Amino acid sequence: MTIRIGIMGYGNLGRGVECAIKQNPDMELAAVFTRRDPKNVRILTEGAKVYHADEAKHMTDKIDVLILCGGSATDLPVQTPEYAKYFTVVDSFDTHARIPEHFAAVDAAAKEAGNVAVISAGWDPGMFSLNRVYANAILPDGKDYTFWGKGVSQGHSDAIRRIDGVKDARQYTVPVESVLERIRNGETPELTTREKHTRECYVVAEEGADLARIEKEIVTMPNYFSDYDTTVHFISEEEMKRDHSTLPHGGFVIRNGKTGWNQENTHVIEYRLKLDSNPEFTSSVIVCCARAAFRMKQEGMSGCKTILDIPPAYLSAKSGEELRKNLL
Ligand code: NAP
Repeated sequence: MTIRIGIMGYGNLGRGVECAIKQNPDMELAAVFTRRDPKNVRILTEGAKVYHADEAKHMTDKIDVLILCGGSATDLPVQTPEYAKYFTVVDSFDTHARIPEHFAAVDAAAKEAGNVAVISAGWDPGMFSLNRVYANAILPDGKDYTFWGKGVSQGHSDAIRRIDGVKDARQYTVPVESVLERIRNGETPELTTREKHTRECYVVAEEGADLARIEKEIVTMPNYFSDYDTTVHFISEEEMKRDHSTLPHGGFVIRNGKTGWNQENTHVIEYRLKLDSNPEFTSSVIVCCARAAFRMKQEGMSGCKTILDIPPAYLSAKSGEELRKNLL
């Protein structure tokens, strides 16, 4: 049976989900929805159509899972509880501190409607969370470390773009290699924010702008840069286009733990992601969570779930028999 997928919102993730569906033969793209004029949104899948977002509610019989590809800041807190009333849904809500309240709102809507809603699918939250939980369960006596990068942080890039005199900006979060090595060797140091990551900024300034002022505003910006060692490079528009137009990301989840009667043995668990495209990878995680959501709904479950509630086999297109034979 083919799972009919709807995409709500056609930005980076929306495009990524469309690409991921192409690699999963048990799925097909049923429709793309946008809040913009559908005439102005061009998709890649032949035969599929773009509809206005308002149409979605009238198409519940044509879609098995609606994937919500809006932004975490203002779109998903509204969209996910709203669409969970009509569809089995998946989102990638990534504001960690607000996940409990998002979960509660989505859970209430999904339970009332008898739907399954998977929230916070992606890599962090998502695959990193899953690996933190596995490692914690296996090594209760230990310490967790998460490093991000090297990768583009869109939130930090946006913050620089808002500074007067800045035309364009890209911010890379970079793990401090020497600290990473210590942890990989089994050490369990207490680390400050500044010790774990550095921030590299590439900035295109407007002509005649005061570069020293821009640099100072960046490195002293509270919450974003003031707790980090930040370097600022001013570059041309051409260099920005040539060298910084993609959205790479990734990182490391590491847990170091002890076992043995006298804690004599050390174990290092490491999960690494090195992603050419953050949105395409995130979308690939979302799409297998959509398969799991579809199966959970078919089994009569309802309510809000996260990747921590999904049995691994539900994510896979392979049968239980195949999984036991080839991947167990
Ligand atoms: P994005 O490209 O900014 O798209 C967000 C929404 O903006 C789209 O759904 C689209 O909705 C609208 N939009 C896109 N392009 C537009 C344009 N040219 N003009 C007007 N509106 C446009 O954001 P994204 O990169 O897809 O990321 C979405 C969210 O995913 C992020 O906020 C982040 O929180 C989350 N995320 C999570 C993870 C994770 O690991 N969990 C990883 C990466 C990202 P309409 O089509 O309705 O206009």
